[in-house]
Amino acid sequence: QALPLPSGQEQERILVLVRVRPLNDKEISRNDVSDWECINNSTIIFKNSLPERSMFPAAYTFDRVFGYDNPTRQVYEEGAKEVSLAVVSGINSTIFAYGQTNSGKTYTMRGITECAVEDIYDYIERHKEREFLLKFSAMEIYNEAVRDLLSTDTTPLRLLDDPERGTVIEKLTEEILEDWSHLKELLSICEAQRQIGETSLNETSSRSHQILRLTIESSARVFLAAEKSSTLAATVNFVDLAGSERASQALSAGARLKEGCHINRSLLTLGTVIRKLSKGRNQHIPYRDSKLTRILQNSLGGNAKTVIICTMSPARSHVEQSRNTLLFASCAK
Ligand code: ADP
Ligand code: MG
Repeated sequence: QALPLPSGQEQERILVLVRVRPLNDKEISRNDVSDWECINNSTIIFKNSLPERSMFPAAYTFDRVFGYDNPTRQVYEEGAKEVSLAVVSGINSTIFAYGQTNSGKTYTMRGITECAVEDIYDYIERHKEREFLLKFSAMEIYNEAVRDLLSTDTTPLRLLDDPERGTVIEKLTEEILEDWSHLKELLSICEAQRQIGETSLNETSSRSHQILRLTIESSARVFLAAEKSSTLAATVNFVDLAGSERASQALSAGARLKEGCHINRSLLTLGTVIRKLSKGRNQHIPYRDSKLTRILQNSLGGNAKTVIICTMSPARSHVEQSRNTLLFASCAK
């Protein structure tokens, strides 16, 4: 029996979701208020049209918006499930969390990754006619240096061009997954590795991108003559991006950049790549301009599926950054 394969003719499209987290204790204790409201499944509005903000559009529409009362499970089911599961049918995909530091990127991606892997294992369980091989790797990009999160060796990894496979990350650890608990173990290793960096490099996680990568190969246990391609292989990437304030700071910092304030090249290039992809074909897409976009090239654009989850704080004190996030989200549509 054949797999329920998507047609492959589907239009290249980026799914854009927005998630607003609840006000946190710190925001509540300083009497911060929420300025945003999700008025339906796809529209978020700015409630308080302050006179000095009259230039701001009041309503923003995306594929789906999630408010503070929508749990991660729901964000996954309604926004990221289809794209995550495409990997078992041989389709590459990437799921990003984009937003300012403290807006809920890590919280959201952790939940999404767990839901996705659970579903992938469930799918495998229900498709005994095929044999599956799962490989996991994890990396961090800090200051355009790529580090293996499954290794204690912090030497930056080199990116190589392979004529068949595209960009290959030299010496990146690739673990063959035994089961779900094995993955949990690997995820906690990554987390620990990321924290080691954090103490030495000072809040690295707000400046670095984390990519968790799951590659799935499968083949039919019994070869059917009618089946042309019995072997499938694809990769799904779960990407927790650097705080988006790095991009806006870089854009506004101007001359000060030379004095050691790093442009987050990967974040800026990603923005350009996403904007160009959403505008359609026949454009030069500058994948090669940053490490992040080089690594993700095969899983962005083309037949690959992409979801961007833009996370934001509801607090008035963060309204400028929230707006920047929504503008980025609008450009990606
Ligand atoms: P970021 O990775 O964008 O810097 P985090 O994911 O670390 O932000 O979230 C910041 C804090 O807010 C964490 O304590 C996290 O548990 C909490 N948080 C984020 N999103 C939600 C949410 N949707 N519901 C409840 N708590 C959340
Ligand atoms: Mg984080």
